[in-house]
Amino acid sequence: MAIQWFPGHMYSTQKAITERVKDIDVVIELLDARLPGSSANPMLAELTAGRPTLKVLNKQDLADPARTALWLAHYNALPATRAIPLDASQTTPAQQIVKACHELSPNRGGLAKPMRVLICGIPNVGKSTLINTLTGGRKAKTGDEAGITKLEQRITLADDFYLWDTPGMLWPRIIVPKSGYNLAASGAVGRNAFDEEEVALELLGYLKANYAAGLAARFKLVELDAETMAGMKDEALLDTIGRKRGALLGKGRVNLQKAAEIVMHEFRAGNLGRITLETPEEFAVWLADGQRA
Ligand code: GDP
Repeated sequence: MAIQWFPGHMYSTQKAITERVKDIDVVIELLDARLPGSSANPMLAELTAGRPTLKVLNKQDLADPARTALWLAHYNALPATRAIPLDASQTTPAQQIVKACHELSPNRGGLAKPMRVLICGIPNVGKSTLINTLTGGRKAKTGDEAGITKLEQRITLADDFYLWDTPGMLWPRIIVPKSGYNLAASGAVGRNAFDEEEVALELLGYLKANYAAGLAARFKLVELDAETMAGMKDEALLDTIGRKRGALLGKGRVNLQKAAEIVMHEFRAGNLGRITLETPEEFAVWLADGQRA
């Protein structure tokens, strides 16, 4: 069963973004570096069509560096687009971001033509963390111009550099089933919108094929080499992990729900190693399959 998740309010967000984007020079699209394709909302590209875009691959500290490089190359090849990796909790992202924005919109800057940037991203991608880091934890300054509502906070990074937060909530829009699973695994989708066991099984299926060593190390699966693990059913792997962690019901049966929670927790915390759940090539194939279906 594919995950359905579209909590609504998108119409008003859509309208608000369309309005705001008229006076915006650069759009910063915050993505989760572990699932760049799936954490993008395709609607945003439509709404901001033509605006230079800075793709920020956040949580890069949790992502597979080799795959982050693939995604950066993929985005940097697009017109009017730049991409940078980021750990939003670091203290020095501001300079990198300001520099990239000036490269994307070289004619802006100075008091007469301040740089106007809109920052967008689906929930949990790290937007608040980034804004906090950028403002040095100061309370974000809100504009007092007409039209700047509470929802549309304007943050002044410098006298000639303004940042607007997304007006409204930009929910993910799940257009291929794999994206649903990856978003759920990353924690971007509400807990009651999916079956944890199903998501954990999908995750294990991907990890055993791509990141077997990290799985084996964290769950002490010493008896399983990569080949044996690759040949195992996902259910059997989840069962083994549950047993290793003592997630048991009566009579030696494994509590699969608990085992699923453990797998997802370990993935989200980065304890299975630096992992990226999709490559640009894989994502393109999923999209093409989705369109054929
Ligand atoms: P928002 O919903 O987009 O505003 O997301 P938050 O800023 O609240 O971040 C969601 C979670 O991701 C929080 O637990 C953050 O601490 C964490 N987080 C944000 N940025 C990073 C990052 O670059 N690396 C890591 N490891 N965690 C991050």
